[in-house]
Order: sequence, then C-alpha cells, then structure tokens
Amino acid sequence: MLQTETKDEPATATGNMRCLIKHHAGTELEYRSDRAIPEPGPRDVRIKVSKAGICGTDRHIWEWDEWAASRIPVGIVTGHEFVGIIDKVGSAVTKYEPGLRVSAEGHTTKGLDYNSRTGNAHIATDTKIFGIDRDGCFAEYIVVPEENVWPVHPSIPDKVAAVMDPLGNAVHTVMAADVSAKTVLVSGTGIIGLMAVTVAKAAGASRIFATDINPPRLALAKKLGAVESYDAREGTDWIKDIKKQTRGEGVDVVLEMSGASVAIDQSFRALRAGGTAALLGLPAKPVTFDFNENIIFKGCTVFGINGRRMFETWYQMEELLLSGRLELNDIITHEFPLEKYKEAFETMISGEGIKVVLDIA
Ligand SMILES: [Zn+2]
Repeated sequence: MLQTETKDEPATATGNMRCLIKHHAGTELEYRSDRAIPEPGPRDVRIKVSKAGICGTDRHIWEWDEWAASRIPVGIVTGHEFVGIIDKVGSAVTKYEPGLRVSAEGHTTKGLDYNSRTGNAHIATDTKIFGIDRDGCFAEYIVVPEENVWPVHPSIPDKVAAVMDPLGNAVHTVMAADVSAKTVLVSGTGIIGLMAVTVAKAAGASRIFATDINPPRLALAKKLGAVESYDAREGTDWIKDIKKQTRGEGVDVVLEMSGASVAIDQSFRALRAGGTAALLGLPAKPVTFDFNENIIFKGCTVFGINGRRMFETWYQMEELLLSGRLELNDIITHEFPLEKYKEAFETMISGEGIKVVLDIA
C-alpha cells in the first residue's frame, strides 16, 4: 500500500506570519503579516513564540541611534527575549521534540573559537545575536540552533520565562561578584538593576544599597530588598552615608548597571579597598575615570559582564526562580498584544512601564 502521509508527524504551519521588522533606516518598527514562516535547518528548531520581552536594545533599534544604524540590517525581524513552544525540528535534531515549552539563549556562536572551546562562549569572537544579526522573536515563529534551546521548567510562568534573557544578565553580574554575606551597591535601578536587587537578595547579600535618579524606581528597589536607596541628584552625601554604615570602609561589592560616567565614578568611591566591582551598564561614549584612586590604590577586582554564561547562568537562574526568592511581579509591569506594539514601546520608552512584554500567541 502506498503511504501518502506520516501519522507520527504533527501538522506544522506553512505560509505567512505576523511580526515586527526594522523596515527602514530610521525610527520605529513596522508590523507585518506577510513574512514567510521560517523553515528550520537540519540542526535547528522552530519555536512558536508565546511571549517576548522588549529590551533596552530593542529601544535603541526602535529609536535608530548611532549604534543601531551601524549594526542592524534593515529588514530584520527584531526581538531576542522570548518563550514559546517548539513546533518543528530539523532532521538532525536529537534532543527536543515539538510541543516542548522553551526559551533560548540569544547569542549564537560556531563553537570553534578559543573562548567557545574553553567554557566562555558568552564572549566568543564570532557571536551573532537574534533580533540584531539574524531574525528575532517579535514574530509568531523563530528558528534557533538546537544547542541554544532552554527547556522551561513547568512551574515558571510564561511572563517570567519571556524575560530570562535580561534576568540572566542580572544573575551573571551578581554571581560574578560573589555577594553572599556582603554589602552590595546596585548603581542604577533600570530593569536589570532592579532584577539585580532581587537576585542579590536571593543570593544572600547581607545589605543592599541602591542609587538612581528616578524616585519611583528607587522606591521599588527598597520594596525588592534594598535597605537604603539614594537619589544621586541630591549630591554625594550618600557615599558618606554608605561608609558610615559599613565601618567607614565602603561596600564590599558594586554592581554597576547604569553606564552613566558620573555614577561609575561615584560607585567606585563607595567601594571599599579590596572590594569587587562588576560592570554591566554600557557608557554611551568613552568615560574619564580615576584609575589610581578607584582601582589601583584600592586593589579592587573589576569584572566586565557580557551576556550570560552558557549555560551555567541559565541553571542558576532556574534554581533562583524555583527557590521562590525572586520578586519579578513588580518589575514586569505591562503586557500588550503584538498588534499594540506602538503602545508597548511608548509605555517602555516613557518610563511608565518597567519590563514590557508582548503577547504574540
Ligand atoms: Zn535583551
């Protein structure tokens, strides 16, 4: 008998999909419903996206600043933080099957350079990122290499799984600095800074201090576990106050999340001699910085933090989420359907929302 169909294989989508693309070399993104659904290569999986987080990087792409203009290929589907369900797998995929709920590491590498081969793939020299160098997740479907897939634990809700990428930045920063039983200054309480507060608390930091120039975010930092939060526009007395509370020495650990040059300088002044600083915030341009006073004479240790460790950070993240100690509900403030993407971006850019998630399913 001639068999005309294979019963084992579930029907998969073909045709067009809804998505947001960078349609021109200028501001905003464009909503489209005529993009061809991508086909996975032999070692790829295709994921039907349920929810996707809007990142600060997406804001740069939306606003089309100098960095975006120099990096982003026009015509690309943007977005890199998401959760969804595997819908189709390539012929050489061995581990995963359609139906599995997953997120994915957004950095891809060929795995062949020095860092990839020595356990540091997050700083590989050939890194490509979803939604930046190749099509991303502000779409009904995304194709990713099998090795980038992260199966999501059933007790982690979609809304949280959609933001594991930035949460990974926060976890990587906190873990690099080793905060257990230490005093910590979180410099900058944007999305990842706020995540760093709850992560540092969950990871056993003794006392957390926070600085920013945004009073509602400073209030939220306290709600998430900071013992003090300081408005950096009100002078530098906060540094004295921190020293008073830390035996006159300064904090053990600085987590620099703002990228603001004044904040970088001030946070190092609040760091004790021999302390540790982990730097995630990206300055918009080169900064003037007193190396002698801030690093050399202090004998402190400085870590540059890029992305998430693949995949150590993802395991740490899952354990922290399952511990029930992370407070993310006040950080993930808004959800919008994909079609309301303009409202979603405006809510994020205006600062009214903190983490904004797009509902795509
Ligand atoms: Zn991101």
